[in-house]
Amino acid sequence: MTPKPLLPCGDRPFLAWLMREFIRFGVEEFVLLTGHLSAEVEARVATVSALLPRDVSIVVSREPVRAGTGGAIWHTRNHLAERFLLCNGDSLFDCNLARLLSAGASDAAVRILLREAGDTSRYGRVRLERDLVTEFSPQAGAGQGGMIDAGIYLFNRVVLDDLSPVCSLEADILPRLAARGALRGTVADGAFRAIGIPEDYVLAQREIPQLLRRRALFLDRDGVINVDHGFVGTREHFEWMPGAREAIRTATDAGWHVFVITNQSGVARGLYDEAAVMALHGWMTDEVRRAGGTIDDIRYCPFHPDGVVAAYRKVSDWRKPAPGMLLDLIRAWELDRERCLLIGDQDTDMAAAAAAGMEALRFSGGNLLEFIRPIVDG
Ligand SMILES: [Mg+2]
Repeated sequence: MTPKPLLPCGDRPFLAWLMREFIRFGVEEFVLLTGHLSAEVEARVATVSALLPRDVSIVVSREPVRAGTGGAIWHTRNHLAERFLLCNGDSLFDCNLARLLSAGASDAAVRILLREAGDTSRYGRVRLERDLVTEFSPQAGAGQGGMIDAGIYLFNRVVLDDLSPVCSLEADILPRLAARGALRGTVADGAFRAIGIPEDYVLAQREIPQLLRRRALFLDRDGVINVDHGFVGTREHFEWMPGAREAIRTATDAGWHVFVITNQSGVARGLYDEAAVMALHGWMTDEVRRAGGTIDDIRYCPFHPDGVVAAYRKVSDWRKPAPGMLLDLIRAWELDRERCLLIGDQDTDMAAAAAAGMEALRFSGGNLLEFIRPIVDG
């Protein structure tokens, strides 16, 4: 018997689509909670992993007894970080997850992703006051419209105190947290696809691969995302271009991938090292996610033929105007280059895009949000 998350959807298991979405928002460690079909899941981990755009860590955690949805979390407590996301393995919500992740530190034990639905009968239903969930009912009456549980939760580890070895998240834990004011909600919109019942699965097989074959925005860094002060290698020299974070958030909201491709010959020139570039990019990505958007992935080229650092002194087909970085992202994320657009400020950006077979637009300064909004909304 095939566990639902491994059912084929287009050319791959449903789980590979689901994990790919979380990877876009920075998730790097996955724990798969399994039950009696654990062996089937374990046997397919390598297959799923090979279909992902980035290397991630995947652990399979099998519940020792039928523990319920809350008990399953309790049994896997040794694998859990201070904050962790939980999702159902048989539904996918095509939305901007940064809205949930950036909701900020609060005293909520759980922040739940919510969506509007015309018929709430199959889902948990909530009453929301601002972002406080005042009531959580595991089942609503048939045919009622309202705000429902989208099956994606951001947990604070303190919630483990409320769990027991056998319990249900929906029937026991979430109603209790709501009653004591420890449950918050973030509303998102987007397509929701579940594969739990046969009719839904038939639809999902066709729709999910289409839905997730996204348009992609490739952004040059210096002169587009940040002001080009020349060899920006640290946060102290990094100045956001006006509207840059808002532009990325708008693209994420509109369902676009956002990638950054940047020449960083400052490494070859000995001005800063690769660790500094990676630290800067980590910070930059965190700031974008705090602002409610995401950078799905980044490529940088540290090489230069005239570099002073021997290890980086070479001609590289990753250095723009060559298209190596773009081609690598097209390969890793399986992009359709007809649906890719590069925005850069230099001739080398335009040349790299042309060599990769994608469209490009030149940004010559000003507000990046104003530049990008008509593109992603259009
Ligand atoms: Mg530039």
